[in-house]
Formats: sequence, C-alpha cells, structure tokens
Amino acid sequence: MSAPRIKKVCVIGAGTMGAGIAAQVANAGVPVLLLDIVRDPADRNAVAAGAVAKMLKTDPAPFMSKAAAKLVEVGNIEDDLAKVADCDWIVEAIIERLDLKQDLYAKLEAVRRPGTAISSNTSTIPLAKLTEGRSEAFRRDFLITHFFNPPRYMRLLEVVAGPESDPALVAAVSDFADRGLGKAVVRAKDTPGFIANRVGTFWIQAALNAAFDLELTVEEADAIAGRPMGVPKTGIFGLIDLVGIDLMPHLKQSLTSTLPADDPYQAIARTAPLIEKMIADGYTGRKGKGGFYRINREAGKRKEAIDLATGAYRPAATPPSLPGAAGKGDLGALIALPGKFGAYAWAILGPTLSYAASLVPQAADDIVAIDEAMKLGYNWKYGPFELIDRIGATKLVERLAAEGQPVPEILKLAGQRSFYRIEQGRRQYLGLDGDYHDVVRPEGVLLLEDIKAASKPLLKNGSAALWDIGDGVVALEFTGKMNALDGDVMKLIGEAIPLVQKSYKALVVYNEGSNFSAGANLGLALFALNIAAWGEIEKLVSGGQQAYKALKYAPFPVVSAPAGMALGGGCEILLHSDAVQAHAESYIGLVECGVGLVPGWGGCGEMLDRWKKNPALPKGPMPAVAKVFEIISTATVAKSAAEAKELGFLRPADGVTMNRDRLLADAKAKALALVDGYAPPAPPEFRLPGAGGRTALDLAVQGFQARGLATEYDGVVSGLLAEVLTGGDADPVDVLSEQDMLALERKAFMTLVREPRTQARVEHMLETGKPLRN
Ligand code: NAD
Repeated sequence: MSAPRIKKVCVIGAGTMGAGIAAQVANAGVPVLLLDIVRDPADRNAVAAGAVAKMLKTDPAPFMSKAAAKLVEVGNIEDDLAKVADCDWIVEAIIERLDLKQDLYAKLEAVRRPGTAISSNTSTIPLAKLTEGRSEAFRRDFLITHFFNPPRYMRLLEVVAGPESDPALVAAVSDFADRGLGKAVVRAKDTPGFIANRVGTFWIQAALNAAFDLELTVEEADAIAGRPMGVPKTGIFGLIDLVGIDLMPHLKQSLTSTLPADDPYQAIARTAPLIEKMIADGYTGRKGKGGFYRINREAGKRKEAIDLATGAYRPAATPPSLPGAAGKGDLGALIALPGKFGAYAWAILGPTLSYAASLVPQAADDIVAIDEAMKLGYNWKYGPFELIDRIGATKLVERLAAEGQPVPEILKLAGQRSFYRIEQGRRQYLGLDGDYHDVVRPEGVLLLEDIKAASKPLLKNGSAALWDIGDGVVALEFTGKMNALDGDVMKLIGEAIPLVQKSYKALVVYNEGSNFSAGANLGLALFALNIAAWGEIEKLVSGGQQAYKALKYAPFPVVSAPAGMALGGGCEILLHSDAVQAHAESYIGLVECGVGLVPGWGGCGEMLDRWKKNPALPKGPMPAVAKVFEIISTATVAKSAAEAKELGFLRPADGVTMNRDRLLADAKAKALALVDGYAPPAPPEFRLPGAGGRTALDLAVQGFQARGLATEYDGVVSGLLAEVLTGGDADPVDVLSEQDMLALERKAFMTLVREPRTQARVEHMLETGKPLRN
C-alpha cells in the first residue's frame, strides 16, 4: 500500500504535549483536529478549546502566528472521533496509562481509514504492549513518535517502528515530521525511555548522587557539570529546577519498573531525602515555591541556593572557576583535577559515557543516533561519543577498567581510534563492524559545517568568509563574535561582488550560528564613541549603506537565509536581498531605537518601500510612514518568520523552511531559480508627507508618553526617526531618491550617537543584553 501524503492530522489529548504538537502541525500550515475528553457536558469541547486559548497566551508561544491557530479545529472524543477518517495521521498524546491508550485504540480501529498512520507520544510504554489485541492492519499502521517538550522548540523526534510497522508509512510520517514540522528524526528501538530520556535520566541521577556523596554545593556542581561539559549553563540543579523537581521520581519510577534488573541504572537509582522533602513542601523548582535555587523577593530579589546538607536557603555563591585547561573545556584535564572537583567530573562522565556506549546497538543502531538524541533532546553541545573523543576512548577505558567498572564492547572496539574522523573532507563515524562510515545527510540537507570541513574559503577576514557551496553559488558567512557586523563584513561584501560576478551565478547570505546576526558590533561603536571618533562612526554607517546597496544592485541574485535572531543590521541585509529563505524560527526586527539610534544601513527606506506597496493600506504616503514608524519606534521583533511577513520584514513570496538543516539547500535552490533572466531591482522613489506628517507622528508619541509607555528620551529618538521617515525638510511634492533617504538616516544617526543618553543605552545593552529605558 502506498503511504499517505499528510494533508490533515488529528491529535488526541490536548494536554501539554498534544496541544503543543497540534500547534506545530498548524505552524506547518496543515489543518489539525484536536480532541480531548468531555469534562463539562454543557461545553463539550471545553478541554481542547481551553488548551488552544491557553496557548494563545503562552510565552514562548506555541503558535508561530495567529493565523496558524485558526487551522486547529477542536472537538471531543465522544462526538467527533469519526472525523479521524478524514485524517492521514492520528497522534495519540493522552495521559500515560496503558489501559486508557488501549481503550482509545480499540475505538479508533472502528472509525479510522485503513492506511492512516497512528502514532503514540508515549514516553515509556513499549510499542508491543500498546498494540496488544489490535488487528494486523492496525499494527501495520502503528508507530511511536516521541516528541520533546515544548514541541515547537525542541527539535528532537524519536521514531520507533514495530516489527510489523509498514516502512513506507513510517517513512511518510518521518518525512512530514522532518520537512513539515522541522524535527530532526532519530530512529530509536523499542526499549525503555528510548534514547534521550534513558541517557538523560542516568546522567542526572549520577550527577545528583555524586553531588550529595562528595558534599558539593549546588553552585560547585553546576559549574562543573554545565559549561565545561558542553551542557547548558544551568548545569544539573538549574536544569532540574527548570523541568520541575517533581518530575524526578516519575522518571525514576518509569525506568526502574521497565528496565531489566541488571541494567546499570537500577544500581544508581535512588531518591535523596532532601528531594522528597522539597517536593512534599511544594519546592518543585521554578514553577513552585523555589528549587535548588530561588529568587528571594523578601530579601530584595536576592538569588539564593539550597544547602544540600541542611535544606536551608542561603545567598547564592559565585560559582568557582576551574583552573588551567580544565576551565577551558579540556575534559581530560577536568576529570584529572585533584580533589572533589575532578572526582565529581569523573563521577558524572565515567558512568554516563560508559552507559551511553552500552546502548549501541541495544537502543539505537549507531553512535550517531545517540549523539543526535542527546544534542537535540537535552541541548548538549556534544553527544556522548563526541565527549568520549574529547577525552580519548583509551583513557576512558583504562580508568573504567582500573575501577572495575564495566567496559562496553564499542569502547573496546574503538581502542586507540576516535569515534568520529574527517576523511577526505567527509565526516565519518565508527560502526559496530569496526569500520568507519560516512555520516550521511538526508537528501536535501546541505550544511556549511560539512563544506567547511571539506574546503577552503574563497575569501576570509576576521568577521566574514565566502564559501563555494556548489552549482555556481557562494555563501557569505558572518564569523565574528555573535555574528556582529563591522567594517570587515562590509569589506568582504565589497570583495565578494566582483568575484561572484566573474565566476559564479548567485550569492546566499547564511551562517550556522545560533543567531544569524544581532546587528552592528556595538562594542566597536562604543569604543569609537568613547574616544569621540565621529569620523570613524560615520564611515561605518556610510560603509554599511554602500555595501548593502551594492548587494542590492549586484548583477546576480542575492538570497539571505536567516535563522534565530536577525536584528538591526542583520535585518537590514535581509531587506536588501532579492529574496529571503528564512528558517521558521527567525526573530527579525529593527531594534535600533532600543539603543537610542535609528536604522542607519538603509532599513528606513527599504521598509517604507515595502509598506507603500502593501495593497492592504489606504492610498497616500502617510499610512506606510505611520506603519513603519510604529514598527521601528517600538523596536518590534517578529517572533517567527510568519510574524515577520505580517510586519513586512519578509515579503509574501519569501520562503520559509521548517527544518534548520534544510535551510541552506532551500536558499541555494531559491537563488538558482532567480538566475535566468535576472535583473537587479529598479531604485525606488519616495514621496513623503514632510512636516505635516511629522506632527501627526509626534502627537502619537506624546500620547504614549502621557500614558507612561514612552520616556522623554524615547520621544527624542522617535522624533528623529519621524524626521527620516517623513522626508526631513522635503515638501510633500518632492521626490526623494534612495540616496536622499540614506543621507537622512546618516544625519539622524550621527545626531543621536552624540547624545549621552544614547551612549548610556549602548553601554547598558553591551553590559546586560537588555535595553535601558532612560
Ligand atoms: P497531560 O496530562 O498534560 O495531558 C493529557 C491529556 O489527555 C489531558 O488533556 C487529558 O484530558 C487527556 N486525556 C486523558 N484521557 C483521555 C482519553 N481517553 N481520550 C482523550 N483525551 C484524554 O499529559 P502530557 O504531558 O501532555 O503527556 C501526554 C503523553 O505524552 C503521555 O503519553 C506522556 O508520557 C507523553 N510525553 C510527555 C512529555 C512531557 O514532557 N510532558 C514528553 C514526551 C512525551
């Protein structure tokens, strides 16, 4: 039977997971039916409807746009179950009880269309148990799809197929999850906890036990178990506070009850009396009265930490700094540290890495699946096998053996070798057969990381590089700290243009940092400010303007491909591109006003040009000016690519890629599609409302100030923004060119940059990462 293309989905169970999964299906533009039980006979859909209403108020938002929420149809399992016949995939996400799940499947069997995929989001129940008593046809269409919380933001999806699952159907669901929902699909076997939770629970337990046994403070423990190991800086205790301390006994119970008696986890699973007491007293972490850390509001928002021996709160201590190489991420040095810090690092890494190594092939076919699961499901920077490579398998084996701990087969197999290597530019992993195999990227996945491992840049300086990504396309990569933009980036753009013109077809602006770019290098700007190097600053402004316009009018297509934050100058480069292919999780905005400035690299003119063409606005220059003024003066940041389209940072025809790994290939395809018959855009002209329009904008700002929503200085900054957007001294009958707009931007920027209150805002942003409302 051929597998279905997934055009409609049903999610049953509108709790934390089901509602979040339904939202992500809707974010993919696919209609979804969300069902739950009838709790109130007078309002039969109240549970599912309530879940949708709650999600519309949740932050971070499960929906990427309000429009997506409209794709969710709510119902209940008593009245609406027959509607599943219209769906191509049914996701079961009801509470974790085998009897209830089995009961639901029996009912579904009677109404579903054969060939419709059915999957469970279970965290712990084996597939074989779930399908007990079901028909052969049901078992063929059944699989487990284990999402992580929150489903929009966590990229991992563990997929478990049963022995009877139809491979074509499993492939169809996996493909939809990958391209449609943006998930990284990792195939797991039908073993307890699958991959990520199995390793993750062991890891947390090992770290908790050792912290108590070695009598570490929570700050010490987190300083060792966090950043140095490539784990989020929360470390272990901060992480448990985040997910909820009350979850710990459940995780423990579910694994101890399902794992065989000789599994190493059984030997370490224990509950500390302190943790039991904390849960009983409501100290369940950030969502409760406090956790291992808390903010004490009665003591002036003081950060406190719990004393692991007494259970009393005390002021949080500065985390210890680790000496020498250990502090710089050298794991070998970390576990070799004398005293309790080294002992703690080893007490976590030794058993956890050894446990992870023992799960191949038991829980996953290869080491890559385990590494991917931990990186994507627990936000580890390195997977367990990558961590082993950083220590050295031999070192790990020697120490495990010396301590009489079990040494997994795959560690013995590795011997002196590493688990990963680069061979002729290709990344390879060690297989169970003892040979290296290429890490194969799925079709349609192109990573700059792979290109960089296999080639040399065409151009490179301290802040940017240019790479040949094949088929006549080059990629411009920002490489500075936080991908900040500076004179070097502009210089490289200047050098790239003739090179692409001569030897290539198109340019893609792309990088694999967590953020595309947070904008201009403020540190550099502040330095120049402090020495009053106004000429330098003006050069940076005009240099950026020229570079961006040169990109815009280059004789070849330019496609920008952001992911994460694209702010300020990072947003302006998108505005100057022929097209954008954005990752769905792109956060785009012109935030200059937040630091007391106005967009200075062409952002004002480009936004005006877009909005004046928007057919939804009334005719005349003022509506577009007012709209752009509202967006820029409030430093509005779109919280998704979909929202960026609503705000005009992206155009209707710009592409959106759900899966981060597919972004570069999609952007490259978009650029190549523009090559035939390419002509640069015609420069826009501006008819702006002049002083009259400015009065209207000033009045609006005064209204905000009267309501306490804007400070006096916000008024100064937006006053200068208004001057740019209304055309400065121009009369409404004048026609302004793009160059005129750039001159207005420069003038306003250079006025503001001299203001002490702007300088204070810039300094504050650099120090705290947050805007100063002065
Ligand atoms: P939850 O308690 O938040 O929600 C469960 C929902 O199912 C509730 O709205 C409940 O009314 C509904 N429900 C119960 N019985 C039902 C029935 N017979 N028919 C229809 N709806 C019914 O639970 P959750 O955390 O969303 O977990 C759901 C599933 O996802 C479980 O299998 C859980 O193991 C799994 N899971 C949870 C997480 C997590 O972090 N919470 C992560 C991965 C997987």
